[in-house]
Parts: sequence; structure tokens; C-alpha cells
Amino acid sequence: MTTFLYTHPACLDHDPGRRHPESPARLRAVLAALDDPEFTRLERCEAPEAAREDLLRVHPRRHVEGILAAVPKTGHVGIDADTVLSPASGEAALRAAGAVTAAVDAVVAKEADNAFCAVRPPGHHAEPQRAMGFCLFNNAAIGALRAREAHGLGRVAVVDFDVHHGNGTQAAFEADGGLFYASTHQYPLYPGTGAASETGVGNVVNVPLRPMAGSSQFRLGMTQRILPALDAFRPELVLVSAGFDAHRSDPLAQLMLEEADYTWVTEKLLEVAYRHAAGRLVATLEGGYDLSALAASAAAHIRVLMSA
Ligand SMILES: [Zn+2]
Repeated sequence: MTTFLYTHPACLDHDPGRRHPESPARLRAVLAALDDPEFTRLERCEAPEAAREDLLRVHPRRHVEGILAAVPKTGHVGIDADTVLSPASGEAALRAAGAVTAAVDAVVAKEADNAFCAVRPPGHHAEPQRAMGFCLFNNAAIGALRAREAHGLGRVAVVDFDVHHGNGTQAAFEADGGLFYASTHQYPLYPGTGAASETGVGNVVNVPLRPMAGSSQFRLGMTQRILPALDAFRPELVLVSAGFDAHRSDPLAQLMLEEADYTWVTEKLLEVAYRHAAGRLVATLEGGYDLSALAASAAAHIRVLMSA
């Protein structure tokens, strides 16, 4: 089985500021973990810049051009209190989205069985018309719409186990029955969306978890709510918003997951992908702010992808 790993040095150059939790050190930690000999079989690919037409399936032109025009020549520019641009942010954001579209192309073409995009900035808080929560473009949604519009897949799902609700992906998907979005997340927590009552056109499943919830509540939410709905949807491609900030060590939230939970959920999502989508699964990095927990959790996730 072949797992592609997409990344790009520009994703390390995006710098939201010295004290910012979404630091280049996050991606360095993930890539360092993947330097271990057990990951030599990963096929390493350079993430291309996303094409404008791919971005424009999710974001209006005003948003795309506005973000790229706001990128400073020196120093930092804040889009909001926690979403900050540095000189490298434009290229990083284009490479992050382009990683996912290239990974989608590769799994649809059967060049790869599945893929992991080790990129930043993350994407799931980026709404069609608004960058927020460290996110500029919605990488997962852009990949989903490429799968549908460029490859003709009828049903595309995003499953999001980041500790924060992916308000941006939900906003992009909630009126479109050919797309499916499911999320486990701490609630209440930033960004404030993700109540169980938010169901889109029957294509959105939110599983809010109380602070201090751990493995058993997470797995129950997956097995009782998300996985049955995902099976009923019969996705032709499974995208994963792979944030690892629900780990018990993470400083930004209070869920209590461990590496074993990421192994477990990856196995379950791959099973769905094999039942309905010929195994096609593309995961993209979202959050995860404790460097060693992030690295170990991402490694656990990718280990399962490679064993598919
Ligand atoms: Zn998060």
C-alpha cells in the first residue's frame, strides 16, 4: 500500500508571531517524527500551489485576493486577534490547499492508496468569506470540491476530529447534500458552533463533547453517531481534518484523548473508505499544540494509513 506525504518548506515559513501557538515548530515536530525509519516507505511529494479555480470553488474571489493582497512584505498583519499573516503566509496557504488538491488527484488516479498533508496554516475554521482561527483557506473543503468538480465524484465526506468545531467546513457544506461533514469537538469552546442541533440539510453530524471527556465518550460518539451516518452517506472519498488538539496534553483544550484513540479512529475511517470509496482517504493537518503529543499522534495516525 502506498501513502503519499505532501508538504512544502513554505509551510514552515508561515510565521504568525513568536508567542503564537500555531508555530512552525508544530510542523517541524511532525516531520521529525516522520524521519523515523518506520516511515521511509512514505512517498514524499512536494505540495504544489493550489490553482485559483480550486480556491474559488469554496471562497469568493474577493476573499482569495484579499488574503493574498494582505500578505505583508515585512513584519506581521493581523486578520483578527489570532489569525496573523507574515511574508511567507500567502505561499504557505496556497501550498496547504494545493497539498490537499494534489492528494485528492493522486488517490483518485490510484497512484496512492491514501495521503497525509503535513501543512500549515490549517483550514477548518476558514469560512467561505472569512479567515479566522489561524486558518486562511479551507484546505479540506477545497479538496472536497476538487474531487467533485474535477473528478466527478458524487459524494464526498469530511470527518473532523480536531478538538475545535470546523465552522468553516460546515458553512461551506451545510446547504449541499452531496457533501457530508461530521465533527467531534469540545463544546462549548472556540469557535462556539457545533451544537448537535446543527444538521445542515441532514448532511452535518456534530458530536459535542464536554470538557474532560476522553476515549470512551469520543469512541461512543464515533460509533453511535458519526460512523453510521457516514456509512449511510456512502462517501466516494473520505477527507479527514486531522487535528490532534483533543489529546490530553494539549494546552488549548480539555479533552483527554491519547495516541491509541487516533490509531482507533483512523482504523475506523479507513474501514469506511474501503467499504464505500475503494479505500480513498486524504487527511490534512489541522490543530495540535503540544509538540510531543502532536508528533506522536500524527505518527500514530500515519502508521495506520501506511498499513491500510
Ligand atoms: Zn483545533
